[in-house]
Amino acid sequence: MDVGAYILSEYIPAKPLVGNLEVCFTAGEQTPTEACAQLKCGDVLKFPFARLDSQPRSVEIKESKVLVAADKATETKSVVELTLESTFDYQPGDTIGIMPTNNTEQVETLLYRLELLDQADATCHLKIVLNCAKKNAKLPAHIPATTTPREILTHCLSLNFVPQKQLLSALAGFTNDDKERGFLSCLSSKQATEHYQSLILEKGLLFIDILELCVNCRPSLAFLAEHLPRLLPRPYSIASSPLEDGNRNLRVIYSLLSHRPGVTTSMLEAAGQQSSPEHPKKVVIYPRISNLFRYTEQDLGSNQILIAVGTGLAPFLGFLAHKEELLKQQSQKESGHSWLYIGAKTPVAILKREKLMAWQQCSLLERLRMCYSRGESPIYVQQMLEEDCEDLVKFLMKPETVLYVCADGAKISQSIASGLGRCLQKALHLSEDEASQLLKELKTQGKYREDVWL
Ligand SMILES: Cc1cc2nc3c(=O)[nH]c(=O)nc-3n(C[C@H](O)[C@H](O)[C@H](O)COP(=O)(O)OP(=O)(O)OC[C@H]3O[C@@H](n4cnc5c(N)ncnc54)[C@H](O)[C@@H]3O)c2cc1C
Repeated sequence: MDVGAYILSEYIPAKPLVGNLEVCFTAGEQTPTEACAQLKCGDVLKFPFARLDSQPRSVEIKESKVLVAADKATETKSVVELTLESTFDYQPGDTIGIMPTNNTEQVETLLYRLELLDQADATCHLKIVLNCAKKNAKLPAHIPATTTPREILTHCLSLNFVPQKQLLSALAGFTNDDKERGFLSCLSSKQATEHYQSLILEKGLLFIDILELCVNCRPSLAFLAEHLPRLLPRPYSIASSPLEDGNRNLRVIYSLLSHRPGVTTSMLEAAGQQSSPEHPKKVVIYPRISNLFRYTEQDLGSNQILIAVGTGLAPFLGFLAHKEELLKQQSQKESGHSWLYIGAKTPVAILKREKLMAWQQCSLLERLRMCYSRGESPIYVQQMLEEDCEDLVKFLMKPETVLYVCADGAKISQSIASGLGRCLQKALHLSEDEASQLLKELKTQGKYREDVWL
């Protein structure tokens, strides 16, 4: 891509971000840490939605298993199940935060660009510059008081984010190449809104891509430390029951994009592949605050309608495994009925299909319906719901029934909600407005629980 082609003849650059920090190197080196450096930041640093009774901890990856292989022809993503060491109590449906680390090669390239390869592991700290013009300049809470350039770039800062105009404008000041300077300044201007729209918002160029385009741009580490966003944990649903192996393990399931995979999923992929029983790799996780989207012993007597698309099945695998374990423990107890509606691209893309069939065989699952978007009708979950409309609404309206929807996208959840609305309309002879009002009420009553991932 020729960056010169994106420079307008007239433009006014955005006001650039300014640097208020400096990096001071002190004597000594540190061996690169595998655990997340943000753990060294102390209590001032909060982890989003973290449960108060537990700290983020480095845990072993005990196993990594491919559940679904990627398939280009059907655009099926690879899906992997990770078994992790469990160090806290949980219930199926709960979620954990996983701390990502940036890709090692990306970090190495950036250290080279910043001319810091020689000092990559040298001990350093951040300081507010003398005569700082900004009144309330602060040190970033997500960077440890004593650290190294490698640590900062690997564990603390996001490199894959959408660059804002003021940042682009500031980056222009870090290159001595006229074309790059023009490109960055221009892209930050109001006049180049169309270019910003097409390159950044549509083509999806991230901060790291901009640096790749502008090979002479060398921002300082202090500037990056101050202005790059914090590398944040990503939530994952627990896909196992704590009763399965004495609460020693927990499982999560993730899908991986084939083209430009995300930060956390590519980290998990690499760690999972390198991990072995003799040399287990570790990952930093913490339990997130629970909500109503869970299945506990108290739910054994109630009914569930479980609706999922793709990897959205993950929490329900935990629900059903828990139900199975609870029933093993207390076989005399009456259990409720569970119905599962699941959609995937193809039959092989249904996670743990055999297990689901076995659960249906032993009546743990009273109803199991599957559909395939690359198959024959019905292709979407909402079509199956509509086919079962009368039964489904009757079952849903029982006081002890709760409906759970988990989909890896807001659009899918919306389509499912519309499908459910149509079922209510038809079965209860309601108008569209009345049906959507009823859906709202069901949500408020906690009878309709949703987990939206993205
Ligand atoms: C409550 C909750 C529970 C979740 N549970 C799970 C779970 O159990 N399993 C799971 O796989 N994900 C789950 N997610 C999504 C997960 O948190 C991440 O967003 C996802 O894994 C991508 O993270 P990343 O760091 O690899 O990608 P990022 O680097 O953050 O992503 C870069 C871009 O790529 C897109 N992207 C990356 N990977 C994927 C993918 N596999 N599919 C579609 N788009 C993608 C992102 O949308 C983003 O726009 C959950 C999210 C929430 C809010």
